Amino acid sequence: MSYIQQQDEELFAMIEAEKKRQAEGIELIPSENYTSGAVMEACGSILTNKYSEGYPGKRYYGGQENIDKIETLAIERAKKLFGAEHVNVQPYSGSPANSEIYFALLNFGDTIMGLKLDQGGHITHGLPIAFSGKAYNFIPYEVDQATGKIDMDKVRELALQHKPKMIVAGFTAYPRDIDWKRFKEIADEVGALTMADISHTAGLIAGGELESPVPYFDVVMTTTHKTLRGPRGAIIMCKEIHAKAIDRAVFPGMQGGPHEHTIAGKAIAFGEALKPEFKEYAKQIRKNAVHLAEKLKEKGFKLVSDGTDTHLILVDLTNKGVPGKIAQSKLDEVGITLNKNTVPFDPRSPMDPSGIRLGTPAVTTRGMKEAEMDRIADWIDRVISNIDNAEMHKQIKEEVKEMCLKFPVPGLKI
Ligand SMILES: *Cc1c(COP(=O)(O)O)cnc(C)c1O
Repeated sequence: MSYIQQQDEELFAMIEAEKKRQAEGIELIPSENYTSGAVMEACGSILTNKYSEGYPGKRYYGGQENIDKIETLAIERAKKLFGAEHVNVQPYSGSPANSEIYFALLNFGDTIMGLKLDQGGHITHGLPIAFSGKAYNFIPYEVDQATGKIDMDKVRELALQHKPKMIVAGFTAYPRDIDWKRFKEIADEVGALTMADISHTAGLIAGGELESPVPYFDVVMTTTHKTLRGPRGAIIMCKEIHAKAIDRAVFPGMQGGPHEHTIAGKAIAFGEALKPEFKEYAKQIRKNAVHLAEKLKEKGFKLVSDGTDTHLILVDLTNKGVPGKIAQSKLDEVGITLNKNTVPFDPRSPMDPSGIRLGTPAVTTRGMKEAEMDRIADWIDRVISNIDNAEMHKQIKEEVKEMCLKFPVPGLKI
């Protein structure tokens, strides 16, 4: 019997219910994934008991002989995986990591350029009510309305006009590859630092499917729990010249004791990503996304930028007459989980937007391939085309469950 079951039946039942939900449903939220049982075991280990403020070899507490080795292993594996000069593995998650980067390299009030939030930027890229938007002067760039892709000439124009201290590239709802080289050239022209936020695509970059910004950019941040398939957390990579500033901004600038249980989970995940199987995984994520995108298009769905280069698909449901919020909740009822999302130049509000965002990292982890993408596209189409047909939805829910049970979720036994 598990410790939780013995001690706290109320909470145990809640976790069991969530296990059932994860096993019986299709997870299409592009920022989600299933970690391995090994990663989960590390995160639930006795390492959670230890305080280790500072860095390997330079700690403020005793008893670090094992912790120092664990953190060093995580750093070395991340360096190898991404070819980075310097890596800090302590950031608690992506949002604090981004604040730490700004805090390390800029002064409050400095100008930063980032993608407009309702076009795919992240809240840490200048949302007015967020820390980023209050502490810094964010100038948003946009995608081209006709193509749905970032207009690099406009980015350059804005950069020449506003002379930012930093340009941020890397997004949360953008389905296309990013021209890192061009961003770097523009930044150099105006003397700006370059920051890449590869939270969404890190697994595809590590797997060799997408180009890496690491050779070009000053700083690269990624969360570890999305396509990278590690524990919930983040890392910051940078050129050696920024190493001291980044480390100081993480600790003691913004954080106290690092979460070494999570850092151990990161080390395990980087080890998994260094294996040849991970390249296959990354390749299949993209194959599945491209296939799903094609199938949705055949069924008359309008995709932002007309397709995808990544793991992510953004659908504009305007022509289907179903708002994103209703699509999200009706699909959730049949066991297909995704999220409502704004589309570029959305006439509706962020709480009630025109689109949905979906992705293939989680279904690919379960071993689903093109044949399953066909069925998923079919179910999405049937639900949205028959939005009030409760009888049909009930039937689809059964079909979804039946398929899901053939593809076990890793780590579910833990
Ligand atoms: C997910 C994400 C983050 C933030 O990560 P959290 O761990 O949720 O704080 C930051 N930037 C981008 C582009 C993201 O997609």
